[in-house]
Amino acid sequence: MKVIPGTSLGYQPSDGYTAGNGTFMKDDMIYASKLGAVNVIKNIVSIGSVVDTKMRLFLGKIVKINASKATITIYVDFDNQKLALDVNLLEKDSGRDNLLQYFKLGDILQIRLLSNIYDENVYCTTIGSDVGVVLANCSDCFAKLSIVSQDSMFCSSCKNIEKRKCVFAS
Ligand SMILES: [Zn+2]
Repeated sequence: MKVIPGTSLGYQPSDGYTAGNGTFMKDDMIYASKLGAVNVIKNIVSIGSVVDTKMRLFLGKIVKINASKATITIYVDFDNQKLALDVNLLEKDSGRDNLLQYFKLGDILQIRLLSNIYDENVYCTTIGSDVGVVLANCSDCFAKLSIVSQDSMFCSSCKNIEKRKCVFAS
């Protein structure tokens, strides 16, 4: 059985079951605390990964950003449903100290996962030429920007040039 966080797993400690990795207990019932598949071994209930998603590419949208942190919502296929998942951008090795100089709220990015979608905290990166902003709107007139280089986008309607970390294969 594949579950999402918060799913009641139907096992009760009072029946002899123990809450293992990826689960929590509430009102004498074991619940999933992360995405994954349910395993019951020797009455220990845990949640395991379904498939390895590390290093995979996903499209997502920046839903929260400040100078040092950004949250990107990606959509993942899970048990025949599309699930929205918030992942954290990890850019400390990129030289991009102030994220606000390279990304803006609402930008659509291609990202590479650094963790599995089944982990408690999921991290991603835009280090590499195949990851970064793919779609963004002009800050001045809100028209769609076009990518012109790995670090700039151009607005053909108001001629504004904006700095972004873009997907760019030269
Ligand atoms: Zn513009």
